[in-house]
Formats: sequence, structure tokens, C-alpha cells
Amino acid sequence: MAENTDKMVIDGVELVGIWKEFMPSRILYEDVTTEFLNEVKKLPGGETIAKCYQCGTCTGGCTLPEFVDKFNPRGFINLVRRGHYDLLVSDYKELVWKCVSCNRCTHRCPKGVNTQEVVRAIAKFLEDRKVFGKLTNDEAFDEVFMDEVINDGRIDEVKIVKDFYAKTGRLKEMMSGDQLSLGFKMFTSGRIKLFGGKIKDWKKVSQRLKEELQ
Ligand code: SF4
Ligand code: SF4
Repeated sequence: MAENTDKMVIDGVELVGIWKEFMPSRILYEDVTTEFLNEVKKLPGGETIAKCYQCGTCTGGCTLPEFVDKFNPRGFINLVRRGHYDLLVSDYKELVWKCVSCNRCTHRCPKGVNTQEVVRAIAKFLEDRKVFGKLTNDEAFDEVFMDEVINDGRIDEVKIVKDFYAKTGRLKEMMSGDQLSLGFKMFTSGRIKLFGGKIKDWKKVSQRLKEELQ
């Protein structure tokens, strides 16, 4: 057992920390590359990635591995740090998005890594590199929903459905008898409105949101 409060940087890896129980690092320093690490570090939430010393506490306490095979926050960080970009893309690009933001990892990390945010930053890093090609339904829905909120300040149900089908290349499917009949039932029972409208004076707020999200 050792207490360590020294400031230490080895090969660009910041090892500052106060921990009562010393856990040997699992990082092989000769394997660490800063190329992708620096990119993730610059993204919102990615700032603490370099503090990780690969103890695996986050993965051990993570909610998901029981339900999602191969979900491994320590592993994602490891691949970024070791520059295994191709492997991250081929085997894990869908997985990193499955994080449910429960923050169990962050609370347990002995090195003060904001693990949940780092996992998000890795997902964003991949998204920015356009590795996903076609959007999944979830991503397409997220995008049209956010566009609605940002542009109009409220949800226009008919528009959001139309935009969602358009974004996923399924406009024909939207015009099928089943979908039209479902839409009609929802309209006549008051579950949806034909026009959502805009919030008064929303333009300024919308502009501000766009600036913040850039
Ligand atoms: S993020 Fe924290 S808990 Fe997870 S491996 Fe790195 S140092 Fe350990
Ligand atoms: S925030 Fe994400 S990575 Fe962290 S424990 Fe929860 S599901 Fe796992």
C-alpha cells in the first residue's frame, strides 16, 4: 500500500493522482501514441482521457457488459491511446454509442477520469470522422428531433415523422396504407396535431443554440 501525491508525467501521460492503494498500471508506455489521444482530449468531455492508467475499475462497475457483449470503457480508452483506430472502427464503433450515461464508471475511477464523458467523446470522435456512413434509426431520429427543437422550439409531430422517414430514405414506406391509417387514427383521436407552429420570438434563442452547438 502506498500513498502517492507526486506530480508525474511519463511519455506525455499524466499520472498525477492521490490514491491510497497503488494499482500497477496496465499501460505499456512504448505502445502509447498521442495522435488520436490528442484529438479526443480536445473534444468536450474528453479532457481527462490521458489520466487513465487502465486499471479496469470502470469496466468492472459498468452497467452494460452484462447486457452488451464486448462493451468495455477501459478497452475503448486503451484503443484510442494505443492508436488502434482501425480496430476501434471495425469492432467497436456501434458499441461506444450504447453507453447509458449512468456514471458508475466516473464515480469509481481512482484517477479522476470522467469516464462517462470520455466514452461520449470517443463516440463523437468517431462520428466526426464519418465512420458510420448511413445513419441508424436512432441517430436519424435524434437529428430530426434536435433540428426541430433548435429551429422551432417545439415539436411538430407530422413534420418530425416526415423528416425522419426522409432521412432514413423511407418516404415511400411512410405513404403506405398502414402508416397513413395509423396517422389518421392518431389525428382523429387528438394524439397528434397537423401543425406544430413556432414559439414566439424563438429566432434569437435558435441562433444562440446554434452558436453554442457549433
Ligand atoms: S478510466 Fe479510470 S477506472 Fe477506467 S481504466 Fe482508466 S483509470 Fe481505471
Ligand atoms: S456511464 Fe457508460 S461507460 Fe460508464 S458505467 Fe455507465 S454505461 Fe458504463
